[in-house]
Amino acid sequence: MTAADSAPYAEVIGDPIAQSKSPLIHGFWLDALGMKGEYRPAHVKPDDLAAYIAERRTDPAWRGCNVTIPHKIAVMDLVDDPGDIRGTIGAMNTIVRQRDGSLIGTNTDAAGFYSPLAELDLEGAPVALIGAGGAARAVLFALARANVGHVTILNRSPLKAMGLLATFGLKGDAVALDAPLPPAALLVNSSSLGMTGQPPLDLDLSPLPDDAIVYDLVYAPLMTGLLRAADARGLDIVDGLDMLIGQAALAFELFFGAPPPGGRDEELRAILTA
Ligand code: NAP
Repeated sequence: MTAADSAPYAEVIGDPIAQSKSPLIHGFWLDALGMKGEYRPAHVKPDDLAAYIAERRTDPAWRGCNVTIPHKIAVMDLVDDPGDIRGTIGAMNTIVRQRDGSLIGTNTDAAGFYSPLAELDLEGAPVALIGAGGAARAVLFALARANVGHVTILNRSPLKAMGLLATFGLKGDAVALDAPLPPAALLVNSSSLGMTGQPPLDLDLSPLPDDAIVYDLVYAPLMTGLLRAADARGLDIVDGLDMLIGQAALAFELFFGAPPPGGRDEELRAILTA
């Protein structure tokens, strides 16, 4: 075995995987810290998932992996300790290998979502959320922890959204996508609408108060139609790269044992949007 073979490494697994920005993010941090190690994409098809996990867990250099579509649910059965993920967010995006080869699973999306909001006091604040898919579950998990007030979910299927409110113990209601927005302090888009190749998200933002924050999880494009409209109204905006970088930062520390370098986010954002 060469020295390079035994350098610590982590991966991001998915099918497809070429679109993932995670290798750029983790590679930037490894370089910036001058750390020995690698973070790479691994194309793993659903039929090969169990064999991938079984093989990697025997490799002490493999520190773990991030997990993306379509494996976020299936991996919950393949780790030794899934924590409380199954009963809460219901999807796993990070697997960490312990020294003895056992695997711990977690989800860093909720904390990644919350990181740009951490300085705000959202207790009791009314929130509007677009979407009720996987990303919405991470958002609702974080919102419940932040003790927000009434949550209005606007979704193509309001019934599905209603079930989510109950799951996370939040007070609120679920309405159709074309219902008027409530006067929310925070508006979050967790749907795929507005993403390149998807239909646009057309909302009338006029019910929002002038100090509302508009947060779009979509990061391709970065400046979505929703964020452009919010910006034009003078509202504070948060884009999807903040969450992407936030969830990666937590995973990086779990894999490589050190936090990412501070003060380098603007440089990283420039690389990710080049
Ligand atoms: P998902 O589980 O497939 O959920 C998609 C959501 O969008 C569902 O609520 C779905 O409505 C809605 N939707 C999709 N197509 C629609 C259409 N044509 N009309 C109306 N509603 C539609 O996807 P996800 O994993 O939650 O991801 C959603 C978005 O968040 C993606 O753009 C993803 O890139 C982004 N995201 C960003 C980050 C980040 O770090 N910034 C992290 C995770 C996800 P139904 O419930 O009615 O099906």
